[in-house]
Amino acid sequence: MFLKKIELIGFKSFPDKMTIDFVPGVTAIVGPNGSGKSNIIDAIRWVLGEQSVRSLRGQKMEDVIFSGSDTRKKVNMAEVSLVLDNTSGQFPISYSEVKVTRKVTRSGDSTFYLNNERCRLKDITDLFVDSGVGKAAFSIISQGRVDEVLNSSPVERRLIFDEAAGVLKYRKRKEEATNKLNKTSEHLERVLDILNELN
Ligand code: ATP
Repeated sequence: MFLKKIELIGFKSFPDKMTIDFVPGVTAIVGPNGSGKSNIIDAIRWVLGEQSVRSLRGQKMEDVIFSGSDTRKKVNMAEVSLVLDNTSGQFPISYSEVKVTRKVTRSGDSTFYLNNERCRLKDITDLFVDSGVGKAAFSIISQGRVDEVLNSSPVERRLIFDEAAGVLKYRKRKEEATNKLNKTSEHLERVLDILNELN
């Protein structure tokens, strides 16, 4: 899967429309302290459905909207789009490009779009669940997370690798299936008890 483009407008330190085009290979974003490098990563997390304002380094969701500077007035809306290549068909939709957009206004209205069609947050999370790119996945590793990985116990580290490799979702599904199976066995035992009483 290839991230082709990010478009930001009104998000954090980017009041004007900004487009970042990515080319195949490694891309490094460099700049002085406070120039907005991490804000770009926050934008990716946000568009993928991040609901925790703390993870986005803010106090309230409105903090993702450009709040003004010495030379610019604040704006009232933030919008971020990610454009991903889907020629390999990794995403189960019949478009060669996937565009995911999130908008928020100061009045708190938050909307998501998939290829410019309005959708629910669940549609976005469902789309990314098997891709390894979701907001909780290890495709984005922040500075603090590196320490977390290095200081974790072998068992915790195993979980991290499981999640990165996409194994965790199968483990969770297996747990759910086992629970269902156990409940069904209990019900079956009860039915057999009743049958025995009737006989
Ligand atoms: P460092 O190299 O120190 O980690 P960085 O390049 O990653 O810095 P960021 O943390 O992305 O920088 O950007 C911080 C800047 O973004 C600060 O100057 C902050 O004032 C600005 N900023 C964050 N939120 C908003 C907002 N809502 N409105 C305007 N500016 C904002």
